[in-house]
Amino acid sequence: MTFRDSATGSGGDEGVRRRRGKGGPVAAGGGVVAILALAIYMFTGQDLSGLLGGGGGGDAGPVEEETLGECSGADANTDVDCRMVLTWASLHDVWGEILPEQANIELTEPTFTLFSGSVSTGCGQASSAVGPFYCPPDTQAYVDTGFFDQLETQLGARNAPLAQMYILAHEYGHHIQNLTGVMATANRTDTGPQSDGVRLELQADCYAGMWVNQASQVPQEETGEPMLVPPTQAEISDALEAASAVGDDRIQSGAGQEVSPETWTHGSSEQRMHWFTVGYEGGDMAQCDTFAVREV
Ligand SMILES: [Zn+2]
Repeated sequence: MTFRDSATGSGGDEGVRRRRGKGGPVAAGGGVVAILALAIYMFTGQDLSGLLGGGGGGDAGPVEEETLGECSGADANTDVDCRMVLTWASLHDVWGEILPEQANIELTEPTFTLFSGSVSTGCGQASSAVGPFYCPPDTQAYVDTGFFDQLETQLGARNAPLAQMYILAHEYGHHIQNLTGVMATANRTDTGPQSDGVRLELQADCYAGMWVNQASQVPQEETGEPMLVPPTQAEISDALEAASAVGDDRIQSGAGQEVSPETWTHGSSEQRMHWFTVGYEGGDMAQCDTFAVREV
């Protein structure tokens, strides 16, 4: 998807920053892992070995932090950092409009941290192996920049910039679930294609689709113009490809494992593509109610 040149934003205004840990690798913390796995909301159901114990994380060393600077739409079309800032800005704009209108809830804007190495969060210590995630207690999304490379090399997403934006929209979807309260009522101890956990993830995919639908329509306050130009058919098919690339079945078979639906936490490629499409075509939170249907 392409930003209009006129689009504008800064890390300071949009709540986007970068953190770099200076220490070495952090030791895994054992028993806390299960609690953390339930506390955070990830983009994929992959390897959990990067979830580290809250207190037992070892010495991560001093942390360097910077707020990302000013970006134009032209910058965001070429530079990853600016793409993150303006995508986050667009998500604020779109949900700031949709949420009061469709759910009668005012948006409180989440923050966003790009990190490398490991990061200390309100949900405990996490390393790059976790992939992108949302942590409800500090209403913040975390994305390890290395995951973007992995998306291309291991998961085979063919349009990298669009896949990056899709990840942010999915994590923002988890924030919306936090605000609507659905997150608190879902039972995430269960796995499998029809589990609450999978329904939460598919709803986040549906909300990501809603953003793709609205990002070229909701005007930015500063400019009076939408931040993005309408997506092309090729871009929509790339977005579907990105959704498919992170399906549990595709990740399992890609890793040479047996496909075992009972272990799924995020849904199959087909489920993820389907719910993205429901959000994209309908633009309606009610249609994204994955808990209201018998089968997702
Ligand atoms: Zn997720």
